[in-house]
Amino acid sequence: MKTSTRCVQLGRGGDSHGAIVPPIYQTATFEQPSATEFGDFDYTRSGNPTRALLEQQLADLEEAKYACAFASGMAAITALTRIVRPGEEIIAGDDLYGGTVRLLDRLASHQNITVRYLDTTSATSVKEALTARTRLVLIETPSNPLFRISDLVALGEITRATGTLLAVDNSMLSPVFQRPITLGADIVIHSATKFLCGHSDVTAGAVITNEKNIHEQIAFQQNAEGAGLSPFESWLLLRGLKTLSLRVERQNLSATKIAQFLASHPQVTKVFYPGLETHPGYLLHRKQSEGDGAVVSFTTGNPTYSVRVIEAARLFRIAVSFGSVGSTISLPYRMSHASIPAALRDRLAPPEDLIRLSVGIEDVDDLIEDLDAALHNNHKTLHQIANGGTQGRVQS
Ligand SMILES: *Cc1c(COP(=O)(O)O)cnc(C)c1O
Repeated sequence: MKTSTRCVQLGRGGDSHGAIVPPIYQTATFEQPSATEFGDFDYTRSGNPTRALLEQQLADLEEAKYACAFASGMAAITALTRIVRPGEEIIAGDDLYGGTVRLLDRLASHQNITVRYLDTTSATSVKEALTARTRLVLIETPSNPLFRISDLVALGEITRATGTLLAVDNSMLSPVFQRPITLGADIVIHSATKFLCGHSDVTAGAVITNEKNIHEQIAFQQNAEGAGLSPFESWLLLRGLKTLSLRVERQNLSATKIAQFLASHPQVTKVFYPGLETHPGYLLHRKQSEGDGAVVSFTTGNPTYSVRVIEAARLFRIAVSFGSVGSTISLPYRMSHASIPAALRDRLAPPEDLIRLSVGIEDVDDLIEDLDAALHNNHKTLHQIANGGTQGRVQS
């Protein structure tokens, strides 16, 4: 089955009344056959049929065997980091989601876990950095918001040779476009809040793997720490997944047009999108993925002007997060990546003038017109800013 078919067909069946949509098992506990016998489920923190169906579908979409669904992407990443013991080490990409950096920083300061940030686009530098203490390599490809591309096959070979786990946060592309486990990753992480849900109405996360022993450790955390996804949210996510392929394919097409529009715009200094041939990771990305996603970043050369452009957009709403059917616009330095701890900001924060778009399913010509107007209307202001004019009215 192709992914678009899987999205709709998976999770079918099993209901005794033939319900065409799986029911929500909105129950905390399950009656047991006797005091000493257990059914398939006993308590929702440990397992729930609606969540189990979702987990099976998430695993199938990533072409893997096991998945655990969590209350958020960060809860999923937290469960993953519990695999690492005090005294061991994590190697992390140097353009990770701000909340991930904040969490890793806390592990480093409170749990005696070493965290080293590396440019993982160089597989050789990862190879050279691995030590006997390195337990986990955690990357995003494309990274967010700078779209650095890391070689999944090469990193998989390097980590496998030393018994280190390779975990890939696949939130930016979704399994429709990239399935890292098939390329050599041990673990895939999702913020299901993004494309998997697609409607900005659920926060959820997942840890997906083919390896039983990793899955058992993650499932232990899910039960022991209690951050498993609730039945209702699991059901909403199952609903969102049905249109996943349709949404992201359309979003990808529109994002490509928007990236091309921006690349030729006089007020734009640089566009970050792996679908542009000028992107340094263009060829590698094509080798390991089937699409470029719906997130596009660009710089203007001037943070004050960037803020004005963001505030002038009408269809693009100012919001963190990405992957929704509705287009959004943001300033990562002040928004999604503001949680990078101050001491790491110089090294790991995105440029201050970087604008990030998440392209939704609206008509692409409307979206381009909106951006063009936002860039153009502020163009005059740009000159004033450059000449030391109207500063200081920028929202902080
Ligand atoms: C949003 C995001 C997260 C965190 O997920 P939440 O669902 O917000 O907890 C992790 N990784 C990436 C790449 C993200 O974009």
